[in-house]
Amino acid sequence: ACGSEEPELVQNGQLALGTYSQISVYAPTTSKGEKAIEAAFTQVTTIENTLSTSIENSDVSQINLNAGTAPVQVDEMTLDVIHAGLDYYSITKGTFNIGLGSLIELWGIGQDWQKVPTDEEIQEAKQHIDLSNIEISEKEVFITDPHMLMDLGGIAKGYAVDEAVGILRSNGIESGFVNFGGDVYALGNKSDGTPWRIGIQNPEIGESGVIARMGLTDKAIVTSGDYERYFVENDVRYHHIIDPETGYPSTNEISSVTIISDKSMDADVLSTAIFILGLEKGLDLIESLEEIQGVIVTKDRSVYISSGIKNEVEMLDSNFSIVN
Ligand code: ADP
Repeated sequence: ACGSEEPELVQNGQLALGTYSQISVYAPTTSKGEKAIEAAFTQVTTIENTLSTSIENSDVSQINLNAGTAPVQVDEMTLDVIHAGLDYYSITKGTFNIGLGSLIELWGIGQDWQKVPTDEEIQEAKQHIDLSNIEISEKEVFITDPHMLMDLGGIAKGYAVDEAVGILRSNGIESGFVNFGGDVYALGNKSDGTPWRIGIQNPEIGESGVIARMGLTDKAIVTSGDYERYFVENDVRYHHIIDPETGYPSTNEISSVTIISDKSMDADVLSTAIFILGLEKGLDLIESLEEIQGVIVTKDRSVYISSGIKNEVEMLDSNFSIVN
């Protein structure tokens, strides 16, 4: 209300990055909140138009269209995200690969053409995922292999969340909540000064159940699970995270991986990678990285929590239990 000290809660959302993206902020006035959110979404739209594989003249589409033919001049943003993506390859022991487009296209999870490919097709597509085929100069990107495709779907949303949060902050917002289809950022505290309380979904039923929650302040949190995007054929569930080693959706003991970090991009990438790496290697990776925390839920309903947040996670569903 006019003249009061109470901050105004302002919210807006839009379809972006293949999902419903939402921003809520506490602002001194409604118009300041609206302006900040609008500025953030403007940048998100730019990011999507630049990095999406489904938008025809995006940088990434142009890079893919010109694979094997010619280098493409790209935006600085594109170079930044590609460089980050390439760095993650070794950090994640080769599980996170921005050159998996040929396999991702083939499976088409979430697309009209989704189907189980033949093993022959998979083995063929697997021949074209070698990141050394990506050549980068100061302003240009060139995929030298004509059958290789870039896909930034495992990193772009995290990048977009970080950019949106940066824009909210530069517009004076100190408290807010960003949720781009499950890539969440808790900005500051709630208006009452307590941390945002974020739930970890039940991986068996997705959004409709929360098995645990924790308080977060100025942190990103991202979950990867096999319940997010998938199709079922002959009673087998095929989800959207592809193991580059096999060319198939990864299969192991993990149901979901939640990563908490300062940057959403780290959480976005690491949640996907650890989902592939499996429980033991995944936990080791989390513990080896500074500022990265995580919660892994396995198919037998065990919950593994990294050492830095052991006392922060509150369990809410007695069917799941902390084991480490
Ligand atoms: P979402 O949040 O949209 O569910 P994730 O962050 O879990 O997405 O990442 C999954 C997306 O990342 C896939 O849709 C695909 O575009 C891409 N992807 C799948 N497997 C890999 C992988 N091994 N390395 C890098 N990107 C991948």
